Amino acid sequence: MQRQRTLKDKISCAGIGLHSGKKVKLTLKPADVDSGIIFLRTDLSERPKIHATAANVTATLRATTLEENGAKVFTIEHLMSALNVCGIDNCEIELDAEEPPVLNGNSIDFFKMILAAGVVKQDKAREIIRIEKIYRVDGDEGKRFIMALPYDGFRVSFVSVNPHPLIGIQYGDFEITEKIYEKEIAPARTIAYEKEISALRSMGLGLGGTLENVIVYNDSGWLNKLNYPDELVRHKILDVIGDLRLAGIFNCHIVAAASGHALNTQLAKEIFREQGTGNRD
Ligand SMILES: [Zn+2]
Repeated sequence: MQRQRTLKDKISCAGIGLHSGKKVKLTLKPADVDSGIIFLRTDLSERPKIHATAANVTATLRATTLEENGAKVFTIEHLMSALNVCGIDNCEIELDAEEPPVLNGNSIDFFKMILAAGVVKQDKAREIIRIEKIYRVDGDEGKRFIMALPYDGFRVSFVSVNPHPLIGIQYGDFEITEKIYEKEIAPARTIAYEKEISALRSMGLGLGGTLENVIVYNDSGWLNKLNYPDELVRHKILDVIGDLRLAGIFNCHIVAAASGHALNTQLAKEIFREQGTGNRD
């Protein structure tokens, strides 16, 4: 029997949101068995709860958005990624804005926060999701796909495809353990093309992006130092791990090519529809 897990203590951090550019304080708190991962918007008078489940995904443009009880939170995938790898079943996440802090643009700070708060086993079995067949979602007329295969463990194999000659095709294949995640995946940041930035900002996206939290490239190269030569594909793997947590915690081998939040969350929805337990509150 696998027991459910939560945090031992609460822990907070503050910063600005990647897309909104708004200041925000985030607090991770222990939660009761069977409560799941719940966002709580403390800046709104009703303090609405938003359950982090695939059924509540309403948008996936450049980030994953959840909506419930008339409130939303977005760019939740990096935090969800760290919660997934740390095996956290139950956690209340207080936010006083709609977007968690971007911090260093990856999940390493969230991962370290969870470990610093401590992880405790709870007095109830985890509901087991079993991947006993191949779940597969295709997109963009066959140019992208993601699938979850039966596997005894958690592994992600990913091909990222980028038209820029300096980036091109990158391939990553990792067994996701806490140790490997901390060293190989959690420090990887997302990328942005310099030419796109003003268009993104006019759409209200990337307002909190800086050279500290996003790799920016132009026609001749990078404007900042890379953490890994293949940082993009590692970040894509970080995102997949976060998006899939919306279906629950489970063993599988993810194989994907050119997948993003739209396909990742469609796969999570499919698994959740068949095996998820709904909002558990
Ligand atoms: Zn990301």
